[in-house]
Amino acid sequence: MALEKLFIYKGFMWAYHTRAGIDGPKCNDCRFSLVFQKNDQDWVLVCSECSKQFPLTENLERLKESALEKYKSHQLLKHEVVSFDLPPTKVGMEAEDEHYWINASIRQKNGKRVGIVYFGEKIEAQTSKDKTQLFIDFDAEQVRFDPNNQHPTYLLAKLKIEFPESVTTLEQKGEI
Ligand SMILES: [Zn+2]
Repeated sequence: MALEKLFIYKGFMWAYHTRAGIDGPKCNDCRFSLVFQKNDQDWVLVCSECSKQFPLTENLERLKESALEKYKSHQLLKHEVVSFDLPPTKVGMEAEDEHYWINASIRQKNGKRVGIVYFGEKIEAQTSKDKTQLFIDFDAEQVRFDPNNQHPTYLLAKLKIEFPESVTTLEQKGEI
């Protein structure tokens, strides 16, 4: 039984073990188990070591279930998504002359249809600043570029991307 993750959820500490699953809630100071204790008319959770009290505002079983669901969704967020609903498109083109090159493709990334366009200038010592990378998210109608690379308007005075519902324009603003 190996501990996979110790996490805080809704103010409580929880442990997730590889085979045994979720264990908790624990005291988030000393990590001892919490036990029910009657406080006047209400039941509260109390640390069996330091006596710290934890207010419980919902059913403990449901809280434990939602802590487990939270952990599972956290694990799933790490993985790349493949959508079998999208057509298996992977088109691309490349072109170059003695000064410039361009590489454009439409593919699937994390379950979404995206367009990726690289273009750059042929300079002897190639660095990340010699090229531009544009990411086109067709579904969200958004265009992004990697700020570690060259700004798109360094090579192109104006760039206009037309989606069905909107238009994105990148334009040089004065001297750069
Ligand atoms: Zn404690």
